[in-house]
Amino acid sequence: MADKNIATPEPATTAADWKTTDVGSVFVSNYPPYSFWTDGSVNGVTDMLAESGAPDTPMGLYLHIPFCRKRCKFCYFRVYTDKNAREIDTYCDALAREVELYAETARTKGRPLDFVYFGGGTPSYISVKHLNALVDRVKQAMPWDQAREVAFECEPGTLTQPKLEAIKGIGVTRLSLGVENMIDEILRENGRAHVTDEIYRVMPRVHELGFDQVNVDLISGMVGETWETWQVTVQKTIDLDPDSLTIYQMELPFNTVYSKSIREEENSAPAVANWETKRAWHDYAIETFRSAGYEVASAYTLVKKDRPTSFVYRDALWHSADMIGTGVASFSHVGGVHFQNKTHWDAYLGDIAEGRLPLNRAFTPTEEERFAREMILQLKLGHISASYFSEKFGVDILERYAPQFRRLDDEGMLSVEDGQVRLSRQGLLRVDQLLPAFYEPKYQGSRYT
Ligand code: SF4
Repeated sequence: MADKNIATPEPATTAADWKTTDVGSVFVSNYPPYSFWTDGSVNGVTDMLAESGAPDTPMGLYLHIPFCRKRCKFCYFRVYTDKNAREIDTYCDALAREVELYAETARTKGRPLDFVYFGGGTPSYISVKHLNALVDRVKQAMPWDQAREVAFECEPGTLTQPKLEAIKGIGVTRLSLGVENMIDEILRENGRAHVTDEIYRVMPRVHELGFDQVNVDLISGMVGETWETWQVTVQKTIDLDPDSLTIYQMELPFNTVYSKSIREEENSAPAVANWETKRAWHDYAIETFRSAGYEVASAYTLVKKDRPTSFVYRDALWHSADMIGTGVASFSHVGGVHFQNKTHWDAYLGDIAEGRLPLNRAFTPTEEERFAREMILQLKLGHISASYFSEKFGVDILERYAPQFRRLDDEGMLSVEDGQVRLSRQGLLRVDQLLPAFYEPKYQGSRYT
């Protein structure tokens, strides 16, 4: 399961607007919407990188590994299931070169990495040889010995003992397993490459290696899910004893196998639970995990109470850290500028081969948009403090968004007290559907990607 960094929400103003799960996703990963980013703005990126500035801003590195054993039927990411070892070698070489190109810029030169994130795709798909060669070169260009977090996404079926040891050996602190469900029929129906036997085989080895934090990803509402299967999945996940959990509600973005079958062959369309049911399942999972010693850390995450847990990557992103996104189609946020890489294999590799950063489109937000972005993203934590925004941006959010907060308060989605905005459980369960209410009017109702 890849990091959810792109999506296509529809405009939402009230919670009652959302009933069936239609094609078009709701996950909000950034602001302003991607559809406003343009290729004409990429010169601004090279200008920004050529200047030093804000050296104290925390900086992280995202490495995109776009390979998977199989394409899940709900997946909309740029992933490849048909690349051979030579092509993977070429890609890893380009990825390392891209990091080296960044390391030469005035903006990033000499700055330590605060966090590193291997996302995809499936980072654990590549061989130990490729992983070690990639990391050796990347660390030469941008050392991460002082990083607070090195996160790595895994698909259970790709994790052999030597692979796990290699992942531990490169300094990974947060291992995230894309489990998604604990029922084989559901995993198969949704096109997942792994089965539960592979999860059971790998989990004891993961625990033995002593990663600082082991996270498990689940999806509420995969095709074929029922109350009974979801209850089994939640209980079996508790038995796996992860330090933290991430739960997403199933969506149907454009360009997935499922979305295409819904749009093209109505009769064979997959039955996806409606939003109310997915929220009820998500809510049940939260309550059951809480009874098992977990606590809510954001709209999507729970953490085990007695263990040291954190998610530096998420928190850094939601507080406007610099994040260099490398690899095909990756997203970056550096020096207050948003930009995305070329989205196709040949174009990405071609630019790198010619010694150019493979920039595709960009957007330079205004100060007002930077402020709104942070507020929108931090609302996903479930609570925000007005003082943070007045100190950082000089904006009183309680005044600026008074009508929105009042309406959402009336609908039982949040409460405002002593300068704190707190989402209720109902608000948390549908946070992405509420966030467009805080968009500037020109972005409301627009296409997101
Ligand atoms: S594991 Fe599935 S959902 Fe995750 S990136 Fe690969 S194909 Fe997409």
